[in-house]
Amino acid sequence: AAKSLGQGHLQYYNAHLQVRPSRLLVQDRLLREAVANDQGLVLHFQPLWNLATNRLEGFEALVRWQHPQRGLLPPAEFIGFAEARGLISLVDRWVMRAACKQLRAWRNAGLPPVVVAVNMSATEFNQRTLVEEVQLVLADTGIDPQWLEIELTETTLMKQSEHVLQTLQALRQLGVRLSIDDFGTGYSSLAYLKRYPLDKIKIDRSFVKDTPQDADDVSLIQAIIQMGRSLNLRTVAEGVETKAQWDMLQAMHCDLIQGYYLARPMAAEEALRWQQHRCQMSAPQ
Ligand code: C2E
Ligand code: MG
Ligand code: MG
Ligand code: MG
Repeated sequence: AAKSLGQGHLQYYNAHLQVRPSRLLVQDRLLREAVANDQGLVLHFQPLWNLATNRLEGFEALVRWQHPQRGLLPPAEFIGFAEARGLISLVDRWVMRAACKQLRAWRNAGLPPVVVAVNMSATEFNQRTLVEEVQLVLADTGIDPQWLEIELTETTLMKQSEHVLQTLQALRQLGVRLSIDDFGTGYSSLAYLKRYPLDKIKIDRSFVKDTPQDADDVSLIQAIIQMGRSLNLRTVAEGVETKAQWDMLQAMHCDLIQGYYLARPMAAEEALRWQQHRCQMSAPQ
């Protein structure tokens, strides 16, 4: 049985080897073209709500790939691939520029200023030219640095390199905001909360998911919010799906909320209408 299983595995492996390289190359070329031609990648925008002011704080820009054969792909379907193929910097840079362009378009349309948050991979964060690129994008789009936020992961901050510290300081110096995404899921070290000039902690959805029923998760979230407050870091709860979660987080004085309960990520036009509607309702200008 072991032998036939081994053979089966070998066959599968061979078939895989024969098929995979060309498919990979095709995907690789398609993704490069999408970035180069500014065609194929799209951003969806999910609101971040400020609980203290009861106003819209801004949006997280989430990338999707309008794939010629496979339809609209979520990041889970291609970010890993882009990382493996060395294309993630191209994607992250496209996203940062596109997000700032969208912000510019909304401002030109007369909307009140909002923050836009972009996700950044460790690879892109470690590029020598990152700070210059950020400055260039802001200058080209005429966006003040305070409206751009960069979401980093614990993986990025884990490497205690001088370069990471210097880059964070340079970005902070510019006025760009910095947040830790998916907080609590990686190799969390509380030391970096103190060492690095960060603005926000985004509490991962996995801790929010089972609240308010799960007492341990409730305690964990409470502890993160309190820690954030004492370190002067704002806290964002991700993946808020119910009114009960919203009310709980508000009672805990969590600073910001993101999740389906408020809104799903939306295409740019829908996000524009959503802003117009919401701003009229709760923040008359
Ligand atoms: P993330 O940065 O933690 O983004 C939040 C994800 O949670 C988004 O998934 C969003 O649609 C989803 N989400 C938000 N609210 C809820 C909710 O209430 N319930 C549930 N079940 N899900 C919710 P999405 O858009 O599929 O993105 C997945 C991940 O892909 C992101 O997680 C981020 O790590 C990565 N990603 C997205 N855009 C980029 C990018 O431009 N560059 C890089 N490097 N990574 C990106
Ligand atoms: Mg994020
Ligand atoms: Mg997140
Ligand atoms: Mg998350």
